[in-house]
Amino acid sequence: MSHVFHRHCHANLPTATGGHGIYLTDQNGNQYLDGCCGAAVTSLGYGHPRVIDAVQKQVQDMTFAHTGFFTSEPAEQLAEFLAINAPGTLNKVYFTSGGSESVEAALKMARQYFLEIGQPSRHLYITRRQSYHGNTLGALGVGGNQWRREPFAAIMTDAHYIDPCYAYRDQHPNESEFEYGQRMANQLEEKLRELGPENVAAFVAEPVVGATAGAVPAVTGYLKRIREICDQYGVLLILDEVMCGMGRTGTLFACEQDGIEPDLITLAKGLGAGYQPIGAVMVQQRIFDAISSGTGFFQHGHTYMGHPVACAAALAVQQTIQDDQLLNNVKQMSTKLFNRLHHTFSDHPYIGDIRGRGLFVGIELVADKDSKQPLPIESSIHTAIKAEAMANGLMCYPMSGTINGRDGHHILLAPPFIINDTQID
Ligand code: PLP
Repeated sequence: MSHVFHRHCHANLPTATGGHGIYLTDQNGNQYLDGCCGAAVTSLGYGHPRVIDAVQKQVQDMTFAHTGFFTSEPAEQLAEFLAINAPGTLNKVYFTSGGSESVEAALKMARQYFLEIGQPSRHLYITRRQSYHGNTLGALGVGGNQWRREPFAAIMTDAHYIDPCYAYRDQHPNESEFEYGQRMANQLEEKLRELGPENVAAFVAEPVVGATAGAVPAVTGYLKRIREICDQYGVLLILDEVMCGMGRTGTLFACEQDGIEPDLITLAKGLGAGYQPIGAVMVQQRIFDAISSGTGFFQHGHTYMGHPVACAAALAVQQTIQDDQLLNNVKQMSTKLFNRLHHTFSDHPYIGDIRGRGLFVGIELVADKDSKQPLPIESSIHTAIKAEAMANGLMCYPMSGTINGRDGHHILLAPPFIINDTQID
């Protein structure tokens, strides 16, 4: 009998006992090709010697120093690495232990910023119906996944919602992709006028939607228009790159491909690539300056923020990705993966859409290809796909959800950046 309170109480899980390259092994010696990096986490694969060395060395030299007393070399070096490689002037880094913590910190940072600059009425958050930003109450409050939110609605502060940018479903036949993106982005302006822009602190969005919809990228021009609207109304733009960031889409930050710079960006998953739990919020200098010259401290914090071993692991992960030019491999293997998927599945009667960016790929399942009729949410198809894939030695990430009143089933593929041609096949 297991005393672990597993996330699925009745799950009969294999025990993972080893990991090497892109494969995990269980207690019976079965091998699983990790086609989804767990949940877009293990970008460098398993057992990378450079990261293991960095972790071992840091544990030996200095395991932990509370950030109320000390800074540490790995935290300083990782922050510098991120600041140098981030777009524009996102050059202050606030460390956390994961994605939800990063989103919580970003929400509070936005709120404190407006208090510091004398705009205390700005306290509302606008977000999108197709989104997941984490499971802690603040992050869940700005998320759009109804199934996750419902049991806790009574103890959460609600966000205000606009529609997602979901071209496969919602682009009108008579409008271009660009026009569609502008129409969707303009919903933000309408919502701001409805709420009163002077009451709104931030708009929160994933540049490529991950866990609620299976790698749905914003169409060209959408995020640029969002940026314009935020600027016009003095609202902060928080981009959640917890899942799509740190190289997953082929550039270090997904928003680089949209040609915009947010005010805050949240990171986790691929940052430490599973070698250690770590997340971060990157912030524009002016936000830091407002807090620094005002209260003088950010009224937040967690015991394990900036953990030296986690920072050392993340630094080694990111330096390896850079030194080994793995983003080139992400781009090459992405082309190969999309070609293979289209070639194999384009005519499949239950596959409606194959989309994504880089090694972040979503496959949408439908009951009918022509009408795009979704499969019912009650069907346990995602559980069956996961089980069947595992039985065949593959990890993929099937999910289901209801977006804008429509059910949907998707499979997320997000293999490690070190995957090669044969493994893609
Ligand atoms: N934000 C996004 C976009 C995510 O995909 C996730 C997790 O899937 C989170 C936040 C929450 O991250 P964590 O599970 O590390 O708390």
